[in-house]
Amino acid sequence: MKSIAIDIGGTIIKMGFIEKNRVLDNETFSSLSQGDFSQTMSRVSEHISTLLERNKLVSAQLRGIGITIPGIVDVNSNKVLSINKKHDAAIQFNFNQWAKENWTQNLVMENDARAALVGEWQYGAGKKYNNIVMITLGTGIGGSALINGKLVYGKHFQAGCLGGHFIINYNGDKCTCGNIGCIESEASSWKLPELIRNHYLYPDSDWAREDLLDFEKLFNKYRENDALAIDVTQNCLKAWAAGAINMIHAYDPEIVIIGGGIMKSHDIIIPYIKQRTDKYAWTPCEKVEIKKAELENSAALLGLDYLLSIKLLNE
Ligand SMILES: [Zn+2]
Repeated sequence: MKSIAIDIGGTIIKMGFIEKNRVLDNETFSSLSQGDFSQTMSRVSEHISTLLERNKLVSAQLRGIGITIPGIVDVNSNKVLSINKKHDAAIQFNFNQWAKENWTQNLVMENDARAALVGEWQYGAGKKYNNIVMITLGTGIGGSALINGKLVYGKHFQAGCLGGHFIINYNGDKCTCGNIGCIESEASSWKLPELIRNHYLYPDSDWAREDLLDFEKLFNKYRENDALAIDVTQNCLKAWAAGAINMIHAYDPEIVIIGGGIMKSHDIIIPYIKQRTDKYAWTPCEKVEIKKAELENSAALLGLDYLLSIKLLNE
């Protein structure tokens, strides 16, 4: 049977029509991350209708719907418990009612990084492993952990998910989460423009004429041996490596899978983090594998489909 998986991100919403571990069809559209969340979900509904029509199906033929969101999710009651700035009105939104009234009773929800881990575990870079940590380097930094084949949740569903908010610099800058010196507030896409503009080489460099300051540009200039790019990139790499080491110390994985938009430059990121974790992480039994995510855009969608199949199996 087919299911619909929806990945609600801070800037875009990705939606896939899934059968047998494959995304058969998809829709991607911008997410209005501020304001009325019902409006966002109405737009989601419109795109579900488009997918169903295009594939000549009705909602009764669906196995179910899965939704991920970049926040802390109570996966038992399908409620968003907390979300950092974006889509904050999702906390009041009744997802069960929305699904039941419009589409199906079978709904699963999950944190986005956890769903991506499940996708990579079942179908991607984590296939051979049952002890996995996933880090996603995107606008923010996400985390998730699987120990002995079980997702880590904790009392309040937040265990593993706050990997981007591990402190790596207690004298650092304030993070959007309220904490100080998180990995995210030291090295993420939202912090990068500030890191570049505050660099002592910035005023007299080519960078002063650039409007858009993003990681793609940073890594391109790093490859061209630009002095500012080398300095900022190395600081970011050290921050992410520190994050990976924290996650290794916390969850004892066999492998750390790293995904997210910034991983277009995986040829620089993966070897650097591997070298740092081999050297600095306390792993006396065996070195931890560091691998790039394989499924990228579809990891969370395929993960949701798997979680839906497990949920229906257990009912
Ligand atoms: Zn933080």
